[in-house]
Amino acid sequence: MSSALLSSHPAEHIDLELKRLVDQEQLDANSDYDIKIFTDGSKIEGRVGAALSVWSGEVETKALKLALPSFCTVYQAELLAICKAAWMAAEHSPSTRSVGIYSDSLSALDTITNSSALHPLAVEARGYLRKALNQSKCISLFWIKAHAGLEGNERADYLAREAATESKTRFDYESCPVSFVKRSIRMRSLDKWNLRYREGETAGVTKVFFPDAVAAYRIISKIEVDRFVTQVLTGHGGFSEYLHRFKCKESPSCACDPPCSESVFHLLLDCPIHLYDRLECEMRLGLSF
Ligand SMILES: [Zn+2]
Repeated sequence: MSSALLSSHPAEHIDLELKRLVDQEQLDANSDYDIKIFTDGSKIEGRVGAALSVWSGEVETKALKLALPSFCTVYQAELLAICKAAWMAAEHSPSTRSVGIYSDSLSALDTITNSSALHPLAVEARGYLRKALNQSKCISLFWIKAHAGLEGNERADYLAREAATESKTRFDYESCPVSFVKRSIRMRSLDKWNLRYREGETAGVTKVFFPDAVAAYRIISKIEVDRFVTQVLTGHGGFSEYLHRFKCKESPSCACDPPCSESVFHLLLDCPIHLYDRLECEMRLGLSF
């Protein structure tokens, strides 16, 4: 189902405040919760993991590692971890009155707290947070500075790295990011285009310069292509051989020697009329023979 349909009715919108904590002192001043949940996401050498470290007072009471497939982004991992924390906040025993959730990903937290953001994980997380608030639990969301030596954050970071590198047979989350889908579709259409180009019987001259359409695209997009370059790269231009083919010129011969056809390759590589131009070009390119 589309996440737009799952999104809450405006009347059910919840106000989620996000506080920023940059050092141990600020963290200590915002630690007075029955449980504190530190979350983190990680991507190491293409492998993705997320983790939660749950604390009661000064003690870690639960550590949870989540594995994601390699096409997922760190952002998805961060969102998944916060979503799981929100679920814990809602499902934890009713005796838990207050929960603090701490993440070092501002982008993920912003997505969760922005009620118009429709990422499925954010919509799901807001559902759990609403449920927890309806149970009169006090829920607070915090952004904490990463790599600042803050204990819970360091622990979640460590667990997320472990979750990413451990080999798992099952993933805890498997949705593709839109960027991955777009890239895959693009790659597939490029492959199809390339196949058609390589197998097609046209563009004989162009294929000598560019045997591969994808590689050609990369080069062409970086150079300035004017009408002369186009004529040379395609062979479709004022060359006797070409004009003769379309009966626009009586003979395909080059002016240098009647038996020689005036083709792009003859002009570029062999024609003595352009010998000096060719030599000058080779010198400028630093070619020596
Ligand atoms: Zn010639």
